[in-house]
Amino acid sequence: MNIHEYQAKAVLREFGVPVGRGKAIMSADEAEAAARELGGPVWVVKAQIHAGGRGKGKFKEPEAGDKGGVRLARSIEEVKTYAQQMLGRTLVTLQTGPAGKQVNRLYIEEGSDIASEFYLSALVDRTTSRVAFVVSTEGGMDIEKVAHDTPEKIHTFSVDPATGIMPHHGRTVARALGLSGDLAKQAADLIGKLYAAFVAKDMSLLEINPLIVTRDGKLLCLDAKIAFDSNALYRHPDIVALRDETEEDEKEIEASKYDLNYIALDGSIGCMVNGAGLAMATMDIIKLYGMEPANFLDVGGGASKEKVTAAFKIITADPNVKGILVNIFGGIMRCDVIAEGVIAAVKEVGLQVPLVVRLEGTNVELGKKIINESGLNVISANDLDDAAQKIVNAVKGLKAA
Ligand code: ADP
Ligand code: MG
Repeated sequence: MNIHEYQAKAVLREFGVPVGRGKAIMSADEAEAAARELGGPVWVVKAQIHAGGRGKGKFKEPEAGDKGGVRLARSIEEVKTYAQQMLGRTLVTLQTGPAGKQVNRLYIEEGSDIASEFYLSALVDRTTSRVAFVVSTEGGMDIEKVAHDTPEKIHTFSVDPATGIMPHHGRTVARALGLSGDLAKQAADLIGKLYAAFVAKDMSLLEINPLIVTRDGKLLCLDAKIAFDSNALYRHPDIVALRDETEEDEKEIEASKYDLNYIALDGSIGCMVNGAGLAMATMDIIKLYGMEPANFLDVGGGASKEKVTAAFKIITADPNVKGILVNIFGGIMRCDVIAEGVIAAVKEVGLQVPLVVRLEGTNVELGKKIINESGLNVISANDLDDAAQKIVNAVKGLKAA
């Protein structure tokens, strides 16, 4: 789960991490009041969307005076003007994809006097099974490009969970960033606090880009991106409360209500499968026969008829879906339950695209019988290979027609 920059900074502040003062607002009037309260003389107006690269982003349907999603304001009037310019518009950045994201909220933050910008992030490194830090002097830029072009400028180290952050980690960070004296001490202190926050809140990613040194010699986190491990959210109700559903895919939100493992993808064949492994295999075989899956969907081992119906509705509501492949192995899940769920869903939402059903396992004969006697236009398949070919051919046939 992702959160906004202003929320990430509030989380970090709880752990004593240095972040600037700011206020999140949703209207130009609120922006003006926030600017007054913060005091100035310089403010930064920052679009709050779940994507980075806002500074260099561009608004859709450009207007005169546009200048990205992060703007420096030198008066309260400017704060208000920029807020009016940004709110409600769609910002496209390297990370949003071409559709962009609507800006509903802004963060009005005190402006910092920047002496230098660095990059710092922490993530779970699966190779070492530890939290790893990535540090670079090349802050404020596209870190993937730095890693590709000048890998020597990226420093990484991982932290032994038994010891946590040690003084040598602080020295490593200071050396990597070329800091000495009091700034080196601040770096050691910062890394300890970031690590504590990372572990305590079950983060999967914490990225500070840029981490800055101010002209008066203070380390400060100027941007903050945090992603949390979804499997650990049950123990962080305070984090769950930060969820902003307007930033998420509607279909994925609906799926999460029914506890379905659903990820929207770009292809045209909707898949309903039980078991993550079978779902992956189904996606692979669709690709093998020349088409792309529209989603990953694992309805789980013990899905009810209601769950199957909900899953089917989510798939058919996607306008990109030109054909549906149901591939179920009935173990704990019975094929007749799946068949009933599919039929109930088709009766409720109708069927505008070809549907191929492949059932195998417990009560398969009964499941097939229910489908065959339903009078619905369902193509039945005998095995995975057969099913994939049938749905691809049906969709291609539809295109040709
Ligand atoms: P993004 O990464 O989405 O573009 P950032 O928060 O990193 O957004 O902001 C982009 C740039 O704007 C930063 O690299 C920094 O130079 C400048 N900036 C951001 N916040 C402030 C601030 N509070 N004071 C001064 N400059 C800022
Ligand atoms: Mg940034």
